[in-house]
Amino acid sequence: MSNEIPSGAAYAAIEAATESLIAEYVQANPKSAAALEEAKAAGIAGGTNRASIYHSPFPLTFVDAKEATAVTADGQKITDMLGNFTAGLFGFSPGPVKDAVNEAMDHGHALGGAPNVYEARVARAFTTRFPSVDLVRFTMTGTEANIYAINTARAVTGKNKFLIYDGAYHGAWIHGGKTAGPLDSPYEKITVPYGDADLIVDAIRANADDLAAVLLEPVVVTPMSYLKVVSPKAYLQKIREACTEVGCALIFDEVMTSRLAPGGVQELTGVTPDMTTFGKYIGGGFPFGAFGGTKQWMERHDPLHPETINSGGTFNQNALCMAAVAAVFEQLWSPEQCIAHNARGDQLRDAINQLAKQHDVPCQACGAGSLITLIWQNCRVINDDDADTQKHRVDIAALPAVFQTSALFWFHMLQRHDILAGSPKMNYLTLSTVLKSEDYERFLAAMAEFFTTYKEPLALLAAETAPGLAPAQDELALLEMFTTPYTPPV
Ligand code: PLP
Repeated sequence: MSNEIPSGAAYAAIEAATESLIAEYVQANPKSAAALEEAKAAGIAGGTNRASIYHSPFPLTFVDAKEATAVTADGQKITDMLGNFTAGLFGFSPGPVKDAVNEAMDHGHALGGAPNVYEARVARAFTTRFPSVDLVRFTMTGTEANIYAINTARAVTGKNKFLIYDGAYHGAWIHGGKTAGPLDSPYEKITVPYGDADLIVDAIRANADDLAAVLLEPVVVTPMSYLKVVSPKAYLQKIREACTEVGCALIFDEVMTSRLAPGGVQELTGVTPDMTTFGKYIGGGFPFGAFGGTKQWMERHDPLHPETINSGGTFNQNALCMAAVAAVFEQLWSPEQCIAHNARGDQLRDAINQLAKQHDVPCQACGAGSLITLIWQNCRVINDDDADTQKHRVDIAALPAVFQTSALFWFHMLQRHDILAGSPKMNYLTLSTVLKSEDYERFLAAMAEFFTTYKEPLALLAAETAPGLAPAQDELALLEMFTTPYTPPV
């Protein structure tokens, strides 16, 4: 029966429904539209300083926010389930962070040009929590943390190249393969597809002579969706062993994923990298990044080391940021708080999947702990049959209708239910600790209403993405379709 569905019928129906919601959105948000125009006129290229938060027709401007509620320029109060792409783990302006920063401000905010009293407290949190970290250094962002880590590996090994996944994102200047662009750092990169440890080990061995590091997120990587499904242990372990064999550093980018367990994904899987990078939520809203590892890899950051790397950075130990991070670790994110929060995320994911089953709609909530990505397809996204092997399969049906449904869901949840369900480009729900049980219940009720309202287009989508029917992937074409690069004025 499904073969008789004309190709693209789901897309046409879902797109038409989205267009009508977008027309309402434009009507309802004139002040946000004007704010973007003002920013453009003021000299910001495209009106935004961060490409990932731009979307068509224009993003919402927030004018106020507290805990999990943001107020838009046009006065709508919305429940935030985007969580600033993982950085907003503790909601807007968390109290303990505010108090700690105010106190630091009262004592001379930069305590400039000298070590401050917060650094050791922050370092202690890293070295006690994360298995790979014996020594640590701080940065301002996750991008910088990755660049510092790569360059540390290059200095220690005397080699040049690093290996990453095709489509990986490790910050503004570090993309893998098909997603790399003109801003990428001019390193020699080797890119490998996610999922087949044997193939990755072959690439590591083939480049042994000049390979300084393997940099990867210990979760599934696709350029189309932020899918934080933890890679199987056997798969990561095989890559771990190959790095040891050829003498290159294994670096885990845990900028996003370290929130999944008290000791990050390295603790969850028991696979310990040589170095790890951090950022995002750890700053409690302030800019922060960190990289750390074993003595062998990190000791050359010591200014007294005979071959010191001499690493600088004016704001790398900024007192306000350090005070914020100390408050995060000491008051907001104990191991118990971390475990309880991720368990709530698991419950919500299960509840969404159950609801989708009851309504017989092609919606899969994937991810781990407090990181949930909705993928709108019928065929399985993750093939867990291989979980104990060295292969891990991810099958995202690269159809415009799949990604168009993310947009439809986002506009619908915003306009009918005052909920910010990720972004229109991807329904990436990164749950904050300030969301309450009532918020979760309201979200599930809103989802049920969405499933009912769009029963027919979702049935078309189910048929077009049935197991075995999903066409070959063309992620690149879809990336172009669903990301909105800056267009210079004519
Ligand atoms: N690494 C990963 C996995 C990320 O997702 C990001 C940001 O989204 C970064 C690094 C870069 O962090 P930042 O934006 O703080 O530079």
